[in-house]
Order: sequence, then structure tokens, then C-alpha cells
Amino acid sequence: MIFRHTDLTRTTKTVPRLIKFEEELDLGFGEEIAAKAYGQKLLSCIQCGTCSATCPLSHYMDFTPRRVIAMVREGFRDEALSTTTIWLCASCYSCTTQCPRNIHITDVMYTLKREAILRGRYPKRYPIPVLARNFFQGVFRTGRNSEARLIIKLYLQTNPLDALRQAVVGMKLFLMGRMSLRQDRIRKIDQLQALLNAVDSGNGKKGGAGK
Ligand code: SF4
Ligand code: SF4
Repeated sequence: MIFRHTDLTRTTKTVPRLIKFEEELDLGFGEEIAAKAYGQKLLSCIQCGTCSATCPLSHYMDFTPRRVIAMVREGFRDEALSTTTIWLCASCYSCTTQCPRNIHITDVMYTLKREAILRGRYPKRYPIPVLARNFFQGVFRTGRNSEARLIIKLYLQTNPLDALRQAVVGMKLFLMGRMSLRQDRIRKIDQLQALLNAVDSGNGKKGGAGK
């Protein structure tokens, strides 16, 4: 087939570039994540794939745990923070117990989740990060979680249409006294907030992961 010049121009515009040049990578990202994940030695990973093989959820992940570790240490920051893998990780610790290099992969996954929330890089309307952010914000403000408020916010921010469908069930639960919009608060919330801010400062940020 012969392409005219205009055809070729249109074609190249729609083809994404699949490789990244070194200057586009964040070469310090691996060390940054390793430090935040309590000093994990990501560079010692031998890419054996044991973590992927033992992970019960790897079949559903867009990148296996082995590939996520490789992306992090090579500086593919945006790709690692955008992957659904970190949100599907169920923290079962199977990979961590099996890794021949004793890398705590689960801690790396947790660190990537925190970074994704801090940088707003999680998939929009993806329930897990939205739930995590709202849970943190609620606890930061009051010291207590309100399940009813959390669920309402989750539906409204991820799937408002489904919120309408679930409203009938919600009303029944309210009427039966199984759910309440009451928001409990702890005394001296400032002390908890100071503690959470101190933890965040240790992770290089200040002000609460979900704020
Ligand atoms: S099991 Fe450990 S060494 Fe093997 S690929 Fe996974 S992180 Fe790397
Ligand atoms: S901790 Fe997460 S990544 Fe590791 S095996 Fe379990 S689900 Fe997979």
C-alpha cells in the first residue's frame, strides 16, 4: 500500500511512542522509593520473577510485581505511579516472604500508593485510592472513621449513578438503625494531627497524605 504524505502525517500522530529516552527518566526515583520504603535494597533485585509467580493477583495486574520493581529502580516514575498493580495489591506478603533477596515488596507497594495519592497520579474514579484518601481525611479531621459518610463519598466520587441505585438499600439500613451519619470526634484532635504530620514529614511531605 502506498501512503500519500497527508496519510502518513495523520498516521504518525496517532501512534504513541513506546520507548522512553534516558533524559525523560527520573533516575533518582528508585533510591527515593527505597528510602521511603524503610531502606529496601531495590538494586539487589535479580528479576527472578518469584514475586510475580507467588502473587495471587498478578493475573489481574497491568504490570506484575517484578516489572513494577524494575520500573521503579530504572526511573519510570510516572508508569510506576499510574499502574493499577499497586491498588490491586492485597498486602498478603506472599511476595515478601518468598523473595530470595529479602526485598519487602509489600512495603514498596504501600510506598507507591502513598506517592500516587500525594502526587494525584492514581487512576481517576478508581475506588481504592479514593477510599484511602477519604478515609485518611476523615480520620485526620475527627480522629474517627464514619462508615456511612465514607461510603457515600466513595460512591459520589467514583460512580454517582450507582449511588442512586444503592440509595434504596442505604435508606433501609438507616431506618433499621444499621447505619448512621453521626460523626464521632476524639478529644485533643490536634495531638493526632501533629502525629500524622510528623509521619508525613518523615516521608518527605507535610500536611497529611489525603489533604
Ligand atoms: S522475588 Fe525479589 S529478587 Fe525476585 S524479582 Fe521479585 S523483588 Fe526481584
Ligand atoms: S503483597 Fe501484593 S504484590 Fe505481594 S504477593 Fe501479595 S498481592 Fe501480590
